[in-house]
Amino acid sequence: KVKDIGKNNYMFFNKEMIENLKEQIHIGKILREAITEDGFKLVYQPQVCTYTGKIIGFEALIRLKNHNISPDVFIEAAEENGMIIEIGRWVTKEAISQIVTWKNKGLPVKPIAINFSAKQLKDTNYIAFLENTLKEKNVEVKYIEIEITESIFLDEKEETIVFLNRLKKLGIKIALDDFGTGYSSLSYLTFLPVDKIKLDKSLCDKFLEIENIAVMDNIISLAHSLNLEVTAEGIEDMEQYKRLKVAKCNYIQGYLFSKPVEALESEKIYGDNFLEKINDKA
Ligand code: C2E
Ligand code: MG
Ligand code: MG
Ligand code: MG
Repeated sequence: KVKDIGKNNYMFFNKEMIENLKEQIHIGKILREAITEDGFKLVYQPQVCTYTGKIIGFEALIRLKNHNISPDVFIEAAEENGMIIEIGRWVTKEAISQIVTWKNKGLPVKPIAINFSAKQLKDTNYIAFLENTLKEKNVEVKYIEIEITESIFLDEKEETIVFLNRLKKLGIKIALDDFGTGYSSLSYLTFLPVDKIKLDKSLCDKFLEIENIAVMDNIISLAHSLNLEVTAEGIEDMEQYKRLKVAKCNYIQGYLFSKPVEALESEKIYGDNFLEKINDKA
């Protein structure tokens, strides 16, 4: 506790630490206000089938309505100050409501993938909350997918696997996000209860270099041999797309096809064929 540190110990805090603390307090205030005053929104990025060019689902990505702070920054702050639990529940509820909106407008419902932070494992009633929300809103379980990152396995491995198996039993699909960053180990894939892997942008950016193509081909075919589907993330150009198609990558998510769009905008692009769209542009 701060008061236990004592009056004469201020020298333990350097300028940078003070600045960081101020920044955290500042973002903490913004997040608290956003949660009580409807200050968050979700935007939706299409996940496109490599072969048909059609949207197979969307990833929900959180934004602050009134502040231009990147989610990478405020989600990390929320993980540190514990607000991620509340925010995670808000995201879940909002995504399920969006499915209801699409349904009510007569659109053929497509799944939404939501990001689930490792820190949300502390939310021990999350699965019950998810189940109840789905029931309440009369939404089928198959329309929600959960994206986790490998960091979720760093500690409490057993607990995490129990948690994921419970989700899986419910019928929720699980995607391993940001694959190829951090601790990635291919052997993980043999025992993790996941359905899909998402190749990180940083990895995909390297695929066009000759020496990395074989690596990509091998990762994708290994995933397929384990019955996992593969999404490539952060795809911005046609050359990448073409090569990923050769490698039989199932789905593509990236600016080449679409940036994340506002909820209302999602309805307009719902039935689009993105392969036709980019061919028209070319
Ligand atoms: P992520 O889950 O890996 O999401 C993919 C990020 O890549 C998104 O950034 C997306 O906008 C961006 N992206 C997609 N295609 C392209 C592309 O072609 N080029 C480039 N340059 N970027 C692309 P965003 O929305 O800024 O989110 C960043 C991260 O913040 C996410 O990475 C995720 O880890 C976290 N995040 C976002 N929303 C949530 C949320 O609701 N809950 C949690 N726990 N984390 C979230
Ligand atoms: Mg994600
Ligand atoms: Mg990712
Ligand atoms: Mg990320």
